[in-house]
Amino acid sequence: MPMARDVLVEVAKQHGVCIKPLALRRLDVVTGQTEIIDVPCGSTLDSKCPPCAKRNRQLRMAQCREGWHLDTEPAITPDEPNEEQRWLVEFRADMQAKRDAAAQVGDDTTDLDAVLSGLDDEINAAGMRGSVTGSAVPKRTRSTRRRQDAPDLPKRKMANTTLGRTFTSPDGKVYRPSLFVTLTLPSYGKVRNGVPLDPDTYDYRRAARDALHFSKLVDRFVQNLRRVAGYDVQYFASVEPQKRLAPHLHMAIRGTLPRAEIKQIAAATYHQVWWPQADEVRFDGAHLPIWDEQAGYLDPATGEVLPTWDEALDALDEDAEPLHVLRFGEQVDVQGVLAGTPDADQCIRYLSKYLTKSLGDALDGGQAQREHAARMVDALRYEPCSPTCPNWLRYGVQPKNAKAGMAPGRCRSKGHKPEHLGYAGRRVLVSRKWSNKTLAEHRQDRRTWVLEALGQADEPTDPHRYIWRPVPAGDANVPPLAVRLLRTVAERQRWRAHLRELEARAAGQDHSATWEEAA
Ligand SMILES: [Zn+2]
Ligand SMILES: [Zn+2]
Repeated sequence: MPMARDVLVEVAKQHGVCIKPLALRRLDVVTGQTEIIDVPCGSTLDSKCPPCAKRNRQLRMAQCREGWHLDTEPAITPDEPNEEQRWLVEFRADMQAKRDAAAQVGDDTTDLDAVLSGLDDEINAAGMRGSVTGSAVPKRTRSTRRRQDAPDLPKRKMANTTLGRTFTSPDGKVYRPSLFVTLTLPSYGKVRNGVPLDPDTYDYRRAARDALHFSKLVDRFVQNLRRVAGYDVQYFASVEPQKRLAPHLHMAIRGTLPRAEIKQIAAATYHQVWWPQADEVRFDGAHLPIWDEQAGYLDPATGEVLPTWDEALDALDEDAEPLHVLRFGEQVDVQGVLAGTPDADQCIRYLSKYLTKSLGDALDGGQAQREHAARMVDALRYEPCSPTCPNWLRYGVQPKNAKAGMAPGRCRSKGHKPEHLGYAGRRVLVSRKWSNKTLAEHRQDRRTWVLEALGQADEPTDPHRYIWRPVPAGDANVPPLAVRLLRTVAERQRWRAHLRELEARAAGQDHSATWEEAA
């Protein structure tokens, strides 16, 4: 007989209920009442919480659909921050400080991280874009940093628009064509069914470096695309694993260009990684740099201080070669798509197909493919993933922000892990003026829609009214997970029944897909 608990989790999944909810304590400052509220875990990966992953995928599909064939220019003018927004940002700063303090002493920060990401959603819902911490890392500008040569590409005069061209047929119908582009990385050696024919000659090092820096190559492609297209091209792209475990890119592009030009852009696009050398091993095995509180990392034999990250970059002179140069492979697929056609829907499904899987989940080819993946993880083990990666010690450089206890081969960043296989970047890349909405705003749309359908007003809650606090693990006020799941399933069933009733009344209108998604 199946275990009751397993059955319950299955039932929860079928009802689209989060199976790993996070309990938060909510204090209502008006009534003084405290309540434990379950917040969905918000997982984007199938392996962690399928219902949340599925919901996230549907939101992404909605976002992709709404932006692709936009026919009016999105308006992006930030308003003055209002009181509520300021309060949220301040509160988030407090929570961030708490989280950092917890991380400092080595406490588990899972709960606080969840609160922070919840707050980011709130901040977005309050009409602010981006996240407070997101992309706030200052860019290093230095004289030795080399300019990437502009590739040899045609260049059109920039028009101040994000919309593509339209075509009007003789009968007055307006066509809004756009593109669906697939870009892959080059070959590292012959493969069959995703497995190298000769693992000894397969270029794992190149594959590892390409995967680690893939997102930079994509950025370059977009830059070049805009330059050639002559308008502010918008895109919705997803990074997915190929069978051979290399990342590749599907991209919905608003507007159209000749296929030959897209291929020309892909061929001309490259990215140079201007990092110190990472091919000659200087420290290995028991012979590792030692930490000194004052000086940083030293050569264990000579006591010589290793160059810091900045010094190592400064030492790259005119003759230096880039550590790595990335290019796309020859396989470039360009498909023209018309707004509102089954083709467009097909592409949107395709774009989001693997979103709920991690890159390593592409493994299904049995033993040979698992061995291939293991060799890839091996190649990634000592590859520096970022300026702060401890692996730099292996090549005689102190990592940026060096601290005690670092050792090559022991970097905990995502890129080295089997489930990421080098690519630690975001899986969905959406340009800023795509649908003119953030994911939180798309989520809010859906919520508003359901509440309207249920005849309830979606009143904005006063952000000052509630104070949210994480609940420590094992808190006696939190019922067992089974009880919480049962409650949510019951609630979901009531909703669903109510929506079905309304649906029956509204028969004749084709809302079925939306009802299903919302329910
Ligand atoms: Zn969940
Ligand atoms: Zn690393």
